[in-house]
Amino acid sequence: MIDRVEIYVQGGDGGNGAVSFRREKFVPHGGPDGGDGGDGGSVFLEADGRKSTLSDLRFRRHYRAGRGGHGKGKNQHGRKGEDLALKVPRGTVVRCKDTGEVLADLTEEGVRGLGARGGRGGWGNAHFATSTNRAPRIAQKGEPGEGRWLVLDLKLIADVGLVGKPNVGKSTLLSRVSAARPKIAEYPFTSTEPVLGVVELGCHSFVLADIPGLIEGAHRGRGLGHEFLRHIERTRILIHLLDGKATNPLSDLEEITKELELFNPELLIKPQLVAVNKIDLPSVRKHLPQLKESLAQQDRPLFFISALTGEGVPELLARVSNLLAQAQEQPEEPERPAEGFKVFRPRPI
Ligand code: GDP
Ligand code: MG
Repeated sequence: MIDRVEIYVQGGDGGNGAVSFRREKFVPHGGPDGGDGGDGGSVFLEADGRKSTLSDLRFRRHYRAGRGGHGKGKNQHGRKGEDLALKVPRGTVVRCKDTGEVLADLTEEGVRGLGARGGRGGWGNAHFATSTNRAPRIAQKGEPGEGRWLVLDLKLIADVGLVGKPNVGKSTLLSRVSAARPKIAEYPFTSTEPVLGVVELGCHSFVLADIPGLIEGAHRGRGLGHEFLRHIERTRILIHLLDGKATNPLSDLEEITKELELFNPELLIKPQLVAVNKIDLPSVRKHLPQLKESLAQQDRPLFFISALTGEGVPELLARVSNLLAQAQEQPEEPERPAEGFKVFRPRPI
């Protein structure tokens, strides 16, 4: 899925050049000394690894860099206008809306692309003096800053993966907490590709992926699961979703965990949460104590939610957001041990 925003960016106007003449005691006909206007600032887009979505740019459409200062007498040039650098996630592609031209492909950390150039400052009259016109009364106006609509596209990389057996309510949960609209149905395997949605929590946002089709044998590339498991590798947190209606949620959890492990044991290093879904159903509600008891023996944080009514969902998201903030402080890629070495790692809680 692609996260997209359109913004209008405008470079600052250049400052005007000044018309001025030297006025000093004992110098009867001072020459022109009007300084140049400063250049307007430009708008840049800058790749920032701490951003994961474009949602920060959704609140405002128009961005303008600072204007250049006007020139003054005594050959004082105007100040350069301040540049504006808009931080975007790595992987953002910047296009001009009118022409479709790709202006920047921001994959490397800290790299900047030019969104709109500031206007050039105008020349002061000092520039226009010639042998025949020693007292020019002309100066240039600053150029206006360039303005244009940009389209920013980001190929989303999920921060959080949603795993679970078919029909546990992954699609329902994703559509509840984000703007993504996955297909939802009573039968398994409705979803045939990972669906990603941006979850906005106050000033934080993260990308949640519904990773469907996790079935037995998926790690061997059979069934629908394989492509999706690949997607999981890149997430930083996993949410195990369980169906409260299931006859044995604990064994479902173990089955999925086994699948993950067979595919890539490093997946189990990621922080994991367990959420039991469908607690709005009276039959599930009745069995909550038993559910809690049977799931008590697994050591991941446990939540009870209803993707349908939203009950318990804010608590789950708050915890996810918390864990993400912690995960962000750690290096993204765990270093891979050399072949044949076994590495023991503590499991994060
Ligand atoms: P997925 O296969 O894991 O993506 O599951 P879906 O989101 O497609 O949901 C499967 C079925 O369970 C659908 O009929 C949903 O309406 C239903 N469902 C999902 N979440 C809940 C819930 O919290 N409560 C109830 N009662 N039904 C739910
Ligand atoms: Mg689904």
